[in-house]
Amino acid sequence: MDISVWEAGSATASLQKVKRVLLEPGPDELVLEVLHCGLCHSDLSMIDNSWGISQYPLVPGHEVVGRVVSVGPGVDSAVIGQIRGLGWISGSCFRCHQCLEGTSNLCGSLEATIVGRQGGFASHVKAHQDWTVVLPEGLDPAVAGPLFCAGITVFAPLVDEQVSPMAHVAVVGIGGLGHLALQFARAWGCEVTALTTDGTKADEARRFGAHNVMLLEELPALLGRFDLIINTANQALDWPAVMGSLAPRGRLHQLGAVLQPIQVGAFDLISFRRSITGSPTSSPGSLRKMMEFCVRHDIKPQVEHLPLDQVNEAIERLHRGDVRYRFVLDQVA
Ligand SMILES: [Zn+2]
Ligand SMILES: [Zn+2]
Repeated sequence: MDISVWEAGSATASLQKVKRVLLEPGPDELVLEVLHCGLCHSDLSMIDNSWGISQYPLVPGHEVVGRVVSVGPGVDSAVIGQIRGLGWISGSCFRCHQCLEGTSNLCGSLEATIVGRQGGFASHVKAHQDWTVVLPEGLDPAVAGPLFCAGITVFAPLVDEQVSPMAHVAVVGIGGLGHLALQFARAWGCEVTALTTDGTKADEARRFGAHNVMLLEELPALLGRFDLIINTANQALDWPAVMGSLAPRGRLHQLGAVLQPIQVGAFDLISFRRSITGSPTSSPGSLRKMMEFCVRHDIKPQVEHLPLDQVNEAIERLHRGDVRYRFVLDQVA
């Protein structure tokens, strides 16, 4: 099958549209015809090789919504025609301890959609059937893409750790991840505080569900307040102030890929049994729960659409932080 992909030939290069042959789907794999694909900050990090794991030519895109058009051995052909989503992970071993326990996002041999594989800025993409999830009725395919990376990334700390609805949750950063974290935490039942450096986003943060909006510079004055801080920012913060704002047994959950070490003192952890955690996306089971939760609570990404042909413009604007709150690139026939 001939397909078209948008690929970066080398680090920091702009994407070029080229023809490629899509390999046949292997056992338990299926091929999606891409309808929509969100643009995530991790796509920029991979294009620029910021994490040192990129392989070129590189086809980014890991917030895919597409239609199943062909299936490999072992996949029921009845799934052809279904609309499914695909996120950061395209495959895992399904045999190791983590996979058998239902935490297959922690599998030691998982395959990331855009690491050594061809991602979703393309006419077609392939993945293991169990890492693609059928969109439930009531979820608009045109905006659902960002749920598969940004959405599940911020839903995981709530669902996988069974956070109490009585918790006071702070979300740092009101962007692609943060605007969804605010919606999830509010619908979960928590008291929600948005922490931002940009006061102009206060009204929108309240619309997304924040009870309170505060500037990050006010944090040092807040002591012992939050049970959970979901940090989506990828810049260094005033870490002692962040730890000091945690309640006894409070937890900082790190999601932003800040490249510098997180500097905290031992007594920040010891004194009130505080902790620091992090997580990479989540399991197919949690993906399904998230979509059910989104339909029930009318949670959706706020997106700006561009045709896939304008992917370089979207990349350039995301570099400048000029998007509210996520780009979705649409396949235009
Ligand atoms: Zn992502
Ligand atoms: Zn495994």
